[in-house]
Amino acid sequence: QLPFSPAVFRAQFPLFAQQENRDLVYLDNAATTHKPQAVIQAVGDFYVHSNSNTHRSSHRLARRSTEMVERVREQAAIFLNAASAREVVFCRGATEALNLLAYSLCSGLDAGDEIVLSTIEHHANLVPWQMAAARHQLRLRYVPHTAGVPRFDRLHEVVGPRTRIVSLTGGSNALGLRPDFAQIRNQLAGYDLRWIVDGAQLAAHEAIDVDSIGCDFLVCSAHKFYGPTGIGLLYGREQWLESLPPWQGGGEMIAEVGLYESEYAGLPHRFEAGTSSLADIAALGAALEFLRSQDRVAMAAHEQALLARLHEGIGALPGMRLLSQPQHNLGVLACAPEAGQAADLMHWLDGRDIAVRVGHHCAQPLLHAAGTGATVRASVAAYNTFDDVEAFLLAVADYLQLDQSLASAWPGSAAWA
Ligand code: PMP
Repeated sequence: QLPFSPAVFRAQFPLFAQQENRDLVYLDNAATTHKPQAVIQAVGDFYVHSNSNTHRSSHRLARRSTEMVERVREQAAIFLNAASAREVVFCRGATEALNLLAYSLCSGLDAGDEIVLSTIEHHANLVPWQMAAARHQLRLRYVPHTAGVPRFDRLHEVVGPRTRIVSLTGGSNALGLRPDFAQIRNQLAGYDLRWIVDGAQLAAHEAIDVDSIGCDFLVCSAHKFYGPTGIGLLYGREQWLESLPPWQGGGEMIAEVGLYESEYAGLPHRFEAGTSSLADIAALGAALEFLRSQDRVAMAAHEQALLARLHEGIGALPGMRLLSQPQHNLGVLACAPEAGQAADLMHWLDGRDIAVRVGHHCAQPLLHAAGTGATVRASVAAYNTFDDVEAFLLAVADYLQLDQSLASAWPGSAAWA
């Protein structure tokens, strides 16, 4: 493992070396991260050296791509600390994985069974359950909340004998809030239900260990952790995956097909109908190797220091409202100007080549409950620097027409530059 250096880390991302991006301050990492050279290269290498569909016992190239897919599955199992590669399903991303779970898990439920969600969930962890609830007459229940922010310590109040599924964030894209998994696990103990973790944000910021989390399923998207778009992972405990019906039918997911019925393949291929995004699987393998070679604890400490400074800096600006908190936070600052529109601030920042996101962050129920309109979200990755953070703070102060000394550099930042 290399000792973590933000500058060395950043140098591996070719986008930042482009002339037009020399002044770019990219703080939209919760939407997607940039890709290191190794990941970009892996996409091209697949098409140049291995391109073929996957068929286990076929020609040389097909064997090569099949081996590659199964090798990346093994890497992913290690990345997640799954018990075996049989517990890892490739899918297009967290959204597809959650749709798969909503479809397959709910098909076995009875009318009146309950699904527990929270108000902070991404739309990807709300809408599929709403659709399944409508199909099977299921009841959706929500963790008690204060102004939209879930009280995960009161989860037990909405869990009962009819609860079959609890699907909760592993880290919020809108507020950064990261629940305490042990607290959730303890409240679910003794119930016959499946606990799903939406790990889309979590995977970018810390090593995932499904065994110690103790969840039954976890979903994530490669593009949020320096990998390619178009590919993600569904982890499922083998006993539960084994009991689930497949959701899409087609090639690759069958053992035997008859005219009227078919026998499905074993795990995990039963959930991978059709040709997968093979070059993206190869690039996911490169992203997993890239992360494996990093000191993730030091990466997380760097991100936390950036985030602390962001919160401190925005907190010191009169006229800005902070919505996120730095504690238990996975890389997100959420704020809004007290007067005027968040979108105007975003455009002002864009004019200075500072990329943040404005809007509802696919978490409309949260913002409605909080009584907030659109927010500005600045989200960090390990390649961000204190210069990025200071540039953002100065630009916000400038937008508010404040004395820039209010946002002037923090003494601690020099040590991290
Ligand atoms: N859940 C969370 C918490 C997310 O942040 C996102 C992406 N913004 C998703 C789910 C959906 O991920 P994807 O769009 O990659 O499927």
